[in-house]
Amino acid sequence: MIIVKSSKEIAKMQIAGRITAQALQLAGESITPGMTTYQLDKIIHRFITSKGAIPSFLGYGGFPASACISINDEVIHGIPGPRKILEGDIVSVDVGAYIDGYHGDSARTFAVGEISQEAKALMAATEESLYVAIGLAKPGVRIGDLSSAVQEYNEKRGFSVVKQFVGHGIGKDLHEEPEVPNYGTAGRGPRLVEGMVIAIEPMINQGTESVYVLPDKWTVKTKDSSLSAHFEHTIAITADGAVILTSP
Ligand code: MG
Ligand code: MG
Repeated sequence: MIIVKSSKEIAKMQIAGRITAQALQLAGESITPGMTTYQLDKIIHRFITSKGAIPSFLGYGGFPASACISINDEVIHGIPGPRKILEGDIVSVDVGAYIDGYHGDSARTFAVGEISQEAKALMAATEESLYVAIGLAKPGVRIGDLSSAVQEYNEKRGFSVVKQFVGHGIGKDLHEEPEVPNYGTAGRGPRLVEGMVIAIEPMINQGTESVYVLPDKWTVKTKDSSLSAHFEHTIAITADGAVILTSP
């Protein structure tokens, strides 16, 4: 069941979203070559808790950290640990904050120093496709319209769309209905209505779309070790279109 939110609830989600966005912004400002993903996670954890919020991912399904930090060919769900972030890496950081009964969820891939042209193009296409979908989102539009736009945008540029993991509704629960795939057919799927809140999150690979999960049971990697990028916003559907809740 898709849970439609009142304007009061959306105002609360805006607060959760802002903390999420600020945590992500701080993460981007804090990334330096040589630091470990554990250190970056601690910075995010400290910020979220300092705002009186709870990191949404900490303990979610047993996840042991506050942020998912995925480097280069890691797609999503990387577990922070002793791995050092290096110059030339691309680092996907996924953050959620829970406060006053509601979640925010947002992700971004950051470049560490100089990165390859190909990596830049991948990151740009992934982020741009997110904004294409956000631009389309309004009452009456179908999920498949957003999904197919994301797919087409990236495939046209020679990149591939991860199909095993998708975006989602969000509210009192981190993951609610509907699923928001990054591939699909225009005109299909649930219709957006005013008050729906969804997280759109393209996960785009440089090479094959095939991914696998590491023995740590979390980290998702590309099968061909090609790079992967991930951008995500939580948005609310209003009469005037989409409002980004995860904005700093
Ligand atoms: Mg996320
Ligand atoms: Mg999400």
